[in-house]
Amino acid sequence: MTYDTDDARWAAWETRDRAADGAFFVAVRTTGVYCIASCPARPLRQNVVFHDSREAARAAGFRACLRCKPDRVAA
Ligand SMILES: [Zn+2]
Repeated sequence: MTYDTDDARWAAWETRDRAADGAFFVAVRTTGVYCIASCPARPLRQNVVFHDSREAARAAGFRACLRCKPDRVAA
């Protein structure tokens, strides 16, 4: 499984697919944090932006989510 489209990433995020952790990062515009796929946070899709790496998410101004701790997984 690859996660190279927004639809594939959203599907993985919706199902909290742990296999997708680290494959991409989910930035939530309303909270200013970025998450891994298995995070329990459930934002609306319209508020979500996908990033290929945590560096990209950070560069866009997001910080690590305190719930899923995206910095503890290997990217
Ligand atoms: Zn999170």
